[in-house]
Amino acid sequence: MKMGMDDAMEQRLVALRREFHAHAETGWTEFWTTAKIASSLESLGYPVSVGKEILDLASVMGRPSEETIAHSIERALQQGADPVWVRRMDGYTGAVAVLDTGRKGPVVAFRFDIDAVDVSEASDEKHRPFREGFASLNENAMHSCGHDVHAVIGLGVAELLMKRKDELKGVFKLVFQPAEEGVRGGKAIAMKGILNDVDYFLGAHIGMGIPTGSVAPECGDFLCTTKFDAVYKGKAAHAGGAPNEGRNALLAAASATLALAGIAPHKDGATRLNVGVLQAGTGRNVIPSKAVMKVETRGLTMALNDYVYARAMEIVAGAASMYGVEFSVAKMGEAVDALSDKELVDLVTERALAVPGVEKIAQVVSLGGSEDVSWMMRVVQQRGGKAVYFVLGSDIAAGHHNEYFDVDERVLGYGAALFADLASALSER
Ligand SMILES: [Zn+2]
Ligand SMILES: [Zn+2]
Repeated sequence: MKMGMDDAMEQRLVALRREFHAHAETGWTEFWTTAKIASSLESLGYPVSVGKEILDLASVMGRPSEETIAHSIERALQQGADPVWVRRMDGYTGAVAVLDTGRKGPVVAFRFDIDAVDVSEASDEKHRPFREGFASLNENAMHSCGHDVHAVIGLGVAELLMKRKDELKGVFKLVFQPAEEGVRGGKAIAMKGILNDVDYFLGAHIGMGIPTGSVAPECGDFLCTTKFDAVYKGKAAHAGGAPNEGRNALLAAASATLALAGIAPHKDGATRLNVGVLQAGTGRNVIPSKAVMKVETRGLTMALNDYVYARAMEIVAGAASMYGVEFSVAKMGEAVDALSDKELVDLVTERALAVPGVEKIAQVVSLGGSEDVSWMMRVVQQRGGKAVYFVLGSDIAAGHHNEYFDVDERVLGYGAALFADLASALSER
């Protein structure tokens, strides 16, 4: 069965992508985005679950303050989000739709991430979204990774599957994941149990250096990562009159930073550690009583990331005791490694060239970063299911996360068509 798409549908997807692009929302604040996805899915005939219904709240990481959440909800409503859906989300974003054909067959799940990046979009005539009037309306939030495209590909897949529902077998689950940036949302969906019965799991990213018309059937070298905030709490005192009465949180954080940079590399493979933010102190003549560090560790395997993280925890604690200050650590994000199954990599390779718009199969892409789709791949694979994460080529105007980022919108059409085609092929297994 072919899963073709006509020109009218392709044009609709482009218009929809521009709408999502304009309403860019960063991780855990995707209220407008989730409401739009949910209402689109509902009008296609899907039962839809949102927010708290699809998340294991204990596994939610790096969610902003309640004040930021409240402000984001307000903004989404002002920008026309459906209040019924926003209420149902209950402060949490993301959506899952299920198509049960009622016929015996496999359970196939798809993952599309929907959040924007913390960057303000270029207001420059050279930048097409600005020139053509669909640049982000929201300060410091821009779809500069392409997750607007992912969301729309997901809705395209939903439409194609619903059209062919009478010819398909099994169950299809479409996951629209919040907060991928900073790897904060994937674990909460994986741990909710939604994917426990999944036989085949498919995910993809657009761009990544692969040109328009090409598909890379596998994306590997995911780094395991842990993101954490460490907070030191000391005691403020007069820096001239009573410095001995103070407890210096700034010195603890500074010492920890230097020691963290000195964690020995591991013989078994690549590791990384970065202290990206260090904030401390209140005034020139005050012993600093508070310091905040934002840190990430990475490793090519779980064991390597665990090694760096365990050493980092010893150092953070050691620096606190050295300066007599208290400390706390909060996990802000986490991703594991992921390996695509050959059976599905082969299937993507086999089917891609038959999809209109796809002309070439590209080499395996090395991610060199982290992706929290890995949590979902892991739960599926641990229960005997198969998973794949591939790349849909698209020329890009600037690198991912850059304020001039833009995509070749042709990827919308063949992206959705390829996912739907894979679904129909898997439906027969
Ligand atoms: Zn990104
Ligand atoms: Zn991305």
